[in-house]
Amino acid sequence: MPTHKVIVVGGGIVGLAAALALLKRGIDVQLYEQAGQLQEAGAGIQIGANGTRVLYALGLERALANVQAVPVARELRHWSTGETWTWFELGESSARRFGTPHLMFHRGDLHAALANAVTSLKPDAIALGKKCVAVGQTAERAEVRFEDGTRATASFVIGADGIHSTVRAALFGRSEVEFTGCVAWRGLIPMDLLPAHLRRMVGTNWLGPRGFLLHYPVRRGELMNVVSIVERDDWRVESWVIEGTTREFADDFCGWHADVQALIEAIETPYKWALMVRAPMPVWSLGRITLLGDACHPTLPFLGQGAVMAIEDAYIVAACLEKYFRDPAKAFSRYEEIRHERTAAVVRKAQENRAMAFEPRLAEKDAFADAIARDWMKVRVSERLDWLYNYDATAIGV
Ligand SMILES: Cc1cc2nc3c(=O)[nH]c(=O)nc-3n(C[C@H](O)[C@H](O)[C@H](O)COP(=O)(O)OP(=O)(O)OC[C@H]3O[C@@H](n4cnc5c(N)ncnc54)[C@H](O)[C@@H]3O)c2cc1C
Repeated sequence: MPTHKVIVVGGGIVGLAAALALLKRGIDVQLYEQAGQLQEAGAGIQIGANGTRVLYALGLERALANVQAVPVARELRHWSTGETWTWFELGESSARRFGTPHLMFHRGDLHAALANAVTSLKPDAIALGKKCVAVGQTAERAEVRFEDGTRATASFVIGADGIHSTVRAALFGRSEVEFTGCVAWRGLIPMDLLPAHLRRMVGTNWLGPRGFLLHYPVRRGELMNVVSIVERDDWRVESWVIEGTTREFADDFCGWHADVQALIEAIETPYKWALMVRAPMPVWSLGRITLLGDACHPTLPFLGQGAVMAIEDAYIVAACLEKYFRDPAKAFSRYEEIRHERTAAVVRKAQENRAMAFEPRLAEKDAFADAIARDWMKVRVSERLDWLYNYDATAIGV
């Protein structure tokens, strides 16, 4: 039976970030991923300044520069008239303000950059086709059991196996899930298939009464990512791989501006995801086993911080394991002490943002202008986001 210092279960963005953070500190790690090949969803992801700060500290700045998109601005648009407000600047101005830029990626590109960094430090660090079905532990070791009947042990196990985490269920039982009444749509468009006026390095938020739609460039500006959320109560599956149809997506945005219709029509394969909430977990660790990312604090995507929080987790849990390797209780209690309140605040505030994004009065012209002035202008946005982007996980003393 293979024996390691640390096992990470799950090879998503978050599991890979944890493996890289551990290897960078000289801690041997083995990652086990259920899929037969490493892959990520065909969708975009925004990484705010607090996330790029950690990725740069892990040595990824150059690899990311080859695939990132750096939007020059962010705009707000009225759902039916298309009226446009400049919202806040990104890219260079984020780097000036927070020290690191706000970047947009194709998830597959970010995932590949992390996987390459991991395997350049330990070529056989990632084992594929290994579905964890159970975990267990003694005072000295933790153990992972796989669907194929094999087992592996380590001093510590980290469950980074996502929103439907097997490790979480094994430690704490199944969590209660509540449907939010919202469905997320997403899809990618080759930039050159869009009308010329939409082919820009700008992130755009379309605000409307019962939904919003956001689009931003990824992969050096070669693709436009579209993600939208709409109130709907007839879809209950949380999955990155369930396809919807263009007609269904367009029906959800019936009456919206012609640019929104053009974006929806241009998406080759739209995917849909039902948004669920789970009660916050009071603890994430038991003995030598802990959780990180969506496995312990899944969040609604209204702040674009789910993966970023988990990247911060990865950096901190690695620092705690380096410092307290001989004291498992301390290693994970210190990790939770540092991370619990911040991630809980993100989960809470993302839920609060939902109310703002789905204001039914946005259907009225005057109410829309009021909402822009009240909720979306620069100073309000600073109040909402600066505490997120200023946080420096790499400077926290463990
Ligand atoms: C519509 C939408 C938009 C979003 N936009 C953003 C954004 O812009 N920025 C941001 O920071 N966050 C965003 N998020 C949140 C973000 O997508 C998640 O927080 C992030 O993907 C979680 O990563 P993860 O690695 O924890 O989980 P996953 O990405 O789910 O990875 C889990 C991995 O574990 C593997 N696995 C699962 N079970 C097992 C098992 N039993 N054994 C072995 N392997 C297993 C899976 O195959 C997978 O590879 C968004 C979410 C949604 C729904």
